[in-house]
Amino acid sequence: MLWLPLTPSLLRLFAFVGVLSLMFSLESIWPKREWKTPRWKRLSVHSVLSVLNTLLLRFTIATPLLLLTDLLEKRQWGLSHALGLNGWGEIVVTLILFDFFDYWWHRFNHTAPLLWRFHRVHHMDTHVDVTTALRFHAGELLISGVVKMFWVLFWGPSIWGFAIFEAGITGFSEFHHSNIDFPDEVEKVVRAVHMTPRVHASHHTVSLRTRNANYSTIFSVWDRLFHSFQEPNPQEMETIGLEEGRDNYLSFRKVLLAPFVNRAL
Ligand SMILES: [Zn+2]
Repeated sequence: MLWLPLTPSLLRLFAFVGVLSLMFSLESIWPKREWKTPRWKRLSVHSVLSVLNTLLLRFTIATPLLLLTDLLEKRQWGLSHALGLNGWGEIVVTLILFDFFDYWWHRFNHTAPLLWRFHRVHHMDTHVDVTTALRFHAGELLISGVVKMFWVLFWGPSIWGFAIFEAGITGFSEFHHSNIDFPDEVEKVVRAVHMTPRVHASHHTVSLRTRNANYSTIFSVWDRLFHSFQEPNPQEMETIGLEEGRDNYLSFRKVLLAPFVNRAL
């Protein structure tokens, strides 16, 4: 795969910046929900959080993960090698398998109390737009990075298989957090394959019916397969976020401390 004039990190950066700019522009033209907080404020707070997380994660998780993937590929270790997968076949299977792992990891983040303490920082946002995709506590990213190392050790993806999965997760997360909506006929087609902005916005409701459901990131099949799909409801979607911490949800201090207090803020 060395013919690609890209490095894995560059691919992820392109996906991150490209989809972020595209979805930010689209939600400026066709916003689904009205913003109650100025957009520049949301963008600046969430961007600073994301830059700090990226710097922290770069040396602790991202680089070790790439080195580990490279080592496993050179040594031909992991189930993908045992099965004789290579080329685009391996890339497609890696994308689907890691998206399946990601579905269960997200679901676990809602059910394990310790993980929920960190993941709720993402859900404390009282709005859903593309900047919500940048809002994660560093603790959640560190824990999920360590867990991802076990996926890599088990499967042994190629560098490009892993890079395309990482770029896919980044781009699709920005896509389905964006404040847009499709007409019903288009929504039906897109949601048959992928998580859509409408279904994912329903995962951000105060209402537990849809919040503890609709966990998929790239492919929507997992929610249907494992009975966690719930049809979005317009009334429930009027209240986004959590019951607690609705004031000052953009305060850095509160975002950083939220996992360490019993009731968020
Ligand atoms: Zn969630």
